[in-house]
Amino acid sequence: MGQILDGQQLANLRACNLKKEVADLKKQDIKPLFCVINIGNDPSSKIYLRTKKRRAEAIGIEQRVYQLPVDEKQVYLLALIDQLNAAEEVNGIMIQLPVPEQINLSEALDHINPEKDVDCLTPSNVGRLWRGDHFVEPATAHGILALLQHYQIGLRGKNVVIIGRSSIVGKPLAALMLEQDATVSILHLKTQNLSEYTKRADILVSAAGQAGLVTANMIKPGAVIVDVGINRIAGKIVGDVDFAEVAPQASYITPVPGGVGPLTVESLMEQVVKLTRRNHGR
Ligand code: NDP
Repeated sequence: MGQILDGQQLANLRACNLKKEVADLKKQDIKPLFCVINIGNDPSSKIYLRTKKRRAEAIGIEQRVYQLPVDEKQVYLLALIDQLNAAEEVNGIMIQLPVPEQINLSEALDHINPEKDVDCLTPSNVGRLWRGDHFVEPATAHGILALLQHYQIGLRGKNVVIIGRSSIVGKPLAALMLEQDATVSILHLKTQNLSEYTKRADILVSAAGQAGLVTANMIKPGAVIVDVGINRIAGKIVGDVDFAEVAPQASYITPVPGGVGPLTVESLMEQVVKLTRRNHGR
């Protein structure tokens, strides 16, 4: 049976350190403040916003939510971003995904001041990520690397296979893992014969959003399995990996829930604090 990579425990540990860091900043009259723009009424977004708010409050970070109507016009969204870019007290800005159809997300992201871009999604920050001189990292990718590092799972020379090529998970994770000398393959819906790749993985990351996608016959015995997927099946949250089947063959495996999820939220808070320091020249 593979050892559990306990994301919840590590997130709690890191939150304790971050709380101290925030308390120190506050003594210097520096208050981390980040703003989330939520457009519309996506039910999952509401849950994520509540989770983030709870975590932020526990650490001493202020999170402000700007709730916009589902039919909000692009021009108003851009005006709000301009306003937050200009506000000195704001250290971080993010747009909660998904956004309604009429919103041009790329244009909105391009509008965020890169120095306040907590999600690392502006073009210059994405460029920096691939160039290796980034000052902010996407939360999920950062959280996965923190988890691997905590359990002393090295990346140098390892075959890493990532299922999923989204801008928020697969691509940035590939960039950060390449930086640590892994050999990275990214798979997607057009990839033929997934298991041909997954069977060669020393570390397999699944970020597809499809329950039961990764089964025991797809993995190399002793592989490290990181399950990013969040799927709601009959009122229960499950990942992409068939845990019961895969865990006995893995060396390490993340549970869902309690694996990558808590670290994503924690890492987001770390990015807010990082940007706050940077914005104040610390
Ligand atoms: P997207 O839908 O944006 O991307 C999914 C990716 O997976 C796409 O690249 C898609 O391929 C690929 N994919 C889907 N099904 C298959 C398949 N059967 N075989 C191969 N590739 C496949 O999702 P996100 O990246 O936003 O999120 C992925 C999952 O991770 C979701 O379940 C989400 O809820 C979860 N998530 C969890 C987080 C956490 O903290 N634990 C944080 C963020 C996301 P293609 O590009 O060809 O369409």
